[in-house]
Amino acid sequence: MKTISVIVPCYNEEKALPFFLQEVRSVLERMMEDEELAYELLFINDGSTDGTLQLLRDAARQDNHVQYLSFSRNFGKEAAMYAGLQHCKGDYAAVMDADMQDPPSLLPEMYAALRSGEYDSVATRRVSRDGEPPVRSFFARRFYRLMNRISDTRIEDGARDFRLMTRQMVDAILSMTEYNRFSKGIFGWVGFRTKWLPYENVERVAGQTKWSFWKLFLYSIEGITAFSTVPLAFASVIGVLFCLIAFLFICVVLVKTLLYGDPVGGWPSMMCVILFLGGIQLFCIGILGQYLAKTYLETKRRPIYIVQETSEGL
Ligand code: UDP
Ligand code: MG
Repeated sequence: MKTISVIVPCYNEEKALPFFLQEVRSVLERMMEDEELAYELLFINDGSTDGTLQLLRDAARQDNHVQYLSFSRNFGKEAAMYAGLQHCKGDYAAVMDADMQDPPSLLPEMYAALRSGEYDSVATRRVSRDGEPPVRSFFARRFYRLMNRISDTRIEDGARDFRLMTRQMVDAILSMTEYNRFSKGIFGWVGFRTKWLPYENVERVAGQTKWSFWKLFLYSIEGITAFSTVPLAFASVIGVLFCLIAFLFICVVLVKTLLYGDPVGGWPSMMCVILFLGGIQLFCIGILGQYLAKTYLETKRRPIYIVQETSEGL
């Protein structure tokens, strides 16, 4: 008898949760009918300020498939996913959003691919970004292009966090205990055979997205610093480049002075050079600062999340 654990991070999802619960239950129950299977639904309440926790308490009381874990404050989706993977007991684990943007109806197909033994993980990828602000889609695409150029870890464009994986892969992910977590990178980094399921973007059933443009931007920096050190080489490359330019410029100035004498002038061009180089230097120090900050947080070894309450038996 195999067990599937479905891990659902929830942050202020009281509006979407009832729809999700109903749908995911009906899909899983249908899967149980023709397989030797059991399932558990593990919800992570990520410090919601609405009625999410109460909803989860009621659901856990009525249905012993449902379990939950509640954080002492909002720690972010990454922390919630990590906690879910740590606490799930299944032979297979799926991570999915509570807003139905990860259609539960894909689960049977995902499970079939794993059971055949051909794959260790089935991941999903959005092929369209309908319903998303165009500016956001534009920057998202740029991010994936950049990321794949500067990182050895392949990160699929449009990849969702929604995936089903074997216990072996879950354990591999758990062995990565870093504090600054970027799951899309971690999933790729651990390797294993992954099947990609493309699907059309679905809009959120109720409630609102928790990701502002700014939050996504910071998250992208998280991804870059966690999975590439190329930006650190940026200063060296620019430095060499400017040494070459400076050398050529010195030659030009020397020749000019020797041939035509030296009229003092060029204040505007001097200012341009100083400001330009100053800007580049600050930019490079900023990049260093990003890595230093991440290293600083990493060395503190703070817990990734703090649990305040769990359902009985968890
Ligand atoms: N989420 C979370 N903690 C957060 C933000 C989001 O657990 O700090 C959960 C949220 O409840 C949802 C999932 O992560 O189940 C995806 O969030 P959302 O739908 O807002 O993101 P989007 O789909 O717009 O990228
Ligand atoms: Mg969503």
